[in-house]
Amino acid sequence: MSKLLVLYNPDHINHFWQSHVERPERVVSLLEGLSFALSSLHFGKVYFENEKLKVFLNKDLIVLEDIENFLYLAHEKDYVSYIKTICMEKKLGFLDLDTYFTSYTYKVAVEAVGANIISYYLLKDYKYIFNVVRPPGHHATKNKAMGFCIFNNIATLAKFLLKENIRKIFIIDFDAHHGNGTQEIVYNDRDIYYFSTHFYPGYPGTGSKDENNEHIFNVPVDPDSSDEVFFNIYGNYLESLFESCKPEIILVSAGFDIHELDPITPLKVSYKGIEFILEKIKNLAEKYNLK
Ligand SMILES: [Zn+2]
Repeated sequence: MSKLLVLYNPDHINHFWQSHVERPERVVSLLEGLSFALSSLHFGKVYFENEKLKVFLNKDLIVLEDIENFLYLAHEKDYVSYIKTICMEKKLGFLDLDTYFTSYTYKVAVEAVGANIISYYLLKDYKYIFNVVRPPGHHATKNKAMGFCIFNNIATLAKFLLKENIRKIFIIDFDAHHGNGTQEIVYNDRDIYYFSTHFYPGYPGTGSKDENNEHIFNVPVDPDSSDEVFFNIYGNYLESLFESCKPEIILVSAGFDIHELDPITPLKVSYKGIEFILEKIKNLAEKYNLK
């Protein structure tokens, strides 16, 4: 079995606003880095065309019908059609203070969700799947685009997995910001665990421990936190949660904006710190035999 598949949506370059920080280079540099660092990768290209998701993987073409229906697992129908219409008719603008759209944004955002959904079908062939997609998703709520996010990629996948009778889904969100949208969408799903580390107080204003319940685990950290803080949380606390939750699958919102060189976040995590977090997650997946 090949170990790692990377899915990406090449059309993401059409979701672009001059000088905005959420820009195509984020994905381009990740793909370049992955190709450089790892030689045994498989890449899959994801396109949304004529209401169908098409995935080109090796020499195969995989087609998924009715992909838009998956969006309704996490988002209100009116919201989905609002995004579709505004992209088609207005072609360029902002959905909130910092979330832009172009005429391609709806298509590209559906591809990002679609990459997650298709991952479920490809898990039989790959142990790990890394979806390098734009736009991001964890701030998108049931009916609102915000924080550069249009549709909630990871929450849609989690809801889809529930529908497929996978129980005990564990989302780890190590992005610098709290995934308010993910938390909102899964808040009443006791079989979806949501674990988030993020600086607090800070954007988007949510993520305090007061919001926690038996399956929501917010771990807010001081804005100037460095590696040591994350060593403790990911080295000890996360494993204790795995012991009690016994998840069947791990989904990760990998926000590399925790890095000390990120221009818009205050956290001071080094490359070593990020490596530690990823190693811990990988070790837990192996220890508990999870995908
Ligand atoms: Zn972030």
